[in-house]
Amino acid sequence: MTDTSFDSLPLNSAELSNLERLGYKEMTDIQQKSLPIALSGADLIAKAKTGSGKTAAFALPMLHKLNAKNYYIQTLVLCPTRELAQQVAEEIRRLARSQHNVKVLTLCGGQSIGPQIGSLEHGAHIIVGTPGRIQDHLRKNTLDLSRLTTLVLDEADRMLEMGFVDAVEAIAGHSPSSRQTMLFSATYPEKIEALSRRLMKDPQVVSVDAQH
Ligand code: ADP
Ligand code: MG
Repeated sequence: MTDTSFDSLPLNSAELSNLERLGYKEMTDIQQKSLPIALSGADLIAKAKTGSGKTAAFALPMLHKLNAKNYYIQTLVLCPTRELAQQVAEEIRRLARSQHNVKVLTLCGGQSIGPQIGSLEHGAHIIVGTPGRIQDHLRKNTLDLSRLTTLVLDEADRMLEMGFVDAVEAIAGHSPSSRQTMLFSATYPEKIEALSRRLMKDPQVVSVDAQH
């Protein structure tokens, strides 16, 4: 029998009690398959339908290895839309309550860039954003990804459908190749496989098929 309890993972007691407070009693199927791999530091491709708990599957590992004392950007999560980026940032903030002073910043289009630059000057640990706006910041030199340890591509299939493939690759090129890369998607078309070959190192692939 597989252990569905978060206790079976190498998480600390503060992380486990925060999950309990949030009412997360058992791992979802995709969390069970993803978390041991992602927590080991390996690159990961995870495919599962919407609503299956993919955010925590990447947020818990990235938060676990984050060092909040290091006031620079350690994690970047790329999302296809502003709405999704805001949802992901909210979930990360909930899961980050077990740690002190983790700063999560969203950088998306449709908002003026000035205040975003101001927030970046104050420092952040985690950026959640859309590819277009992240590229704007990279061009302006207002975003430094040179010490990134984790890159997450969330809803990768939608990002590719929206034509963000070159942007995603260019952004990844601004981060160290030693980073951990995790790719989450509801579907796994050929284009994603090709992208993963370019951006990832021996990724482990897990999937949960839709239940009928
Ligand atoms: P996806 O990215 O796969 O569409 P989300 O990460 O947005 O899914 O999660 C869907 C919902 O399930 C969210 O409201 C989230 O807080 C909740 N959730 C995630 N994991 C668990 C869990 N292990 N137990 C209870 N609720 C969970
Ligand atoms: Mg999601």
